Amino acid sequence: MRWQWRIYEEPLREPLATAQGVWRSRSGIYLRLEDEQGHVGYGEIAPLPGWGSETLSADIALCQQLPCHLTPEIIATIPEALPAAQFGFATAWQSVGQLPYRLRPWPICALLGSGRAALEQWQQPWQQGHTTFKWKVGVLSPEEEQGILKVLLAALPQVAKLRLDANGGWDLATAVHWLTWLDRHGNGKIEYVEQPLPPDQWQALLRLSQTVTTAIALDESVVSAPELQRWLERGWPGLFVIKPALFGSPERLSILLREGLEPQRLVFSSALEGAIARTAIFQCFETWQPCRALGFGVERWRSALLLTTLADYGAEWHRLDNYGKSYYKQNILYISEP
Ligand SMILES: [Mg+2]
Repeated sequence: MRWQWRIYEEPLREPLATAQGVWRSRSGIYLRLEDEQGHVGYGEIAPLPGWGSETLSADIALCQQLPCHLTPEIIATIPEALPAAQFGFATAWQSVGQLPYRLRPWPICALLGSGRAALEQWQQPWQQGHTTFKWKVGVLSPEEEQGILKVLLAALPQVAKLRLDANGGWDLATAVHWLTWLDRHGNGKIEYVEQPLPPDQWQALLRLSQTVTTAIALDESVVSAPELQRWLERGWPGLFVIKPALFGSPERLSILLREGLEPQRLVFSSALEGAIARTAIFQCFETWQPCRALGFGVERWRSALLLTTLADYGAEWHRLDNYGKSYYKQNILYISEP
């Protein structure tokens, strides 16, 4: 199978503040495969180094090393240290001759602004049919946030579900205080709390999950398949947030599901990947059958529509390549100025 690759860099629609600083653009590699009969397939490698995956340069080095004819055996040799590349090549290979996919829409979780903004922002998505919401915590003091949350929980309809995401920003005392508060005041509307402690505090996370009733989901703690495996072996009783673009070969997750991992324990989430990876992920959902609203409400930062025709794929392949050319041209000009 012959293949080509192109590096892209696309500015985000608005900067995204994260624990690793402000992100302004998103980079990746698009893959295009073609067999002897002229059937094509596409894939995308969208690493997020600040999130525990490999760097883009590691993926570029891999693409430079791989031979110009791919086989499943060659793809199987991509090391575990490059999970985004494993995902990109595995999904590209599977897509050859299969595109476009016929995809179903799945319920998506609506992201609310932090602080008081949440009180105004839930109504519009609710009217559009969203029933699951996510609110970032750890931005204001716990007292202020709990004050706002009391109002929000009282306002949300009984069938609505709310996820809180601490992004690993609490210390143990704050996490215990918060989860105890939620056990008492959650009103049956808290779906779970995401990553209450930093990923390295695994023993404390485990203890916390055994002492409170509110469900806890690991996000930053489980990036790729080996980490999920490790948490299963540790006996983690809670949920896992999976960013499929960073997880590795989708087959790894399909095997775990076949071996008995309960689909209710999985929450799928975007890594701000582009349209090719996003469409590949939705194809995986046909196998994985998500049970919870998807963390794919990211249009504010990057619009990535699902690709529904082969022409869409061709256009996307060229669009970002054109962008990449002008981007690098601009930057070279900029750098060469005194
Ligand atoms: Mg999270």
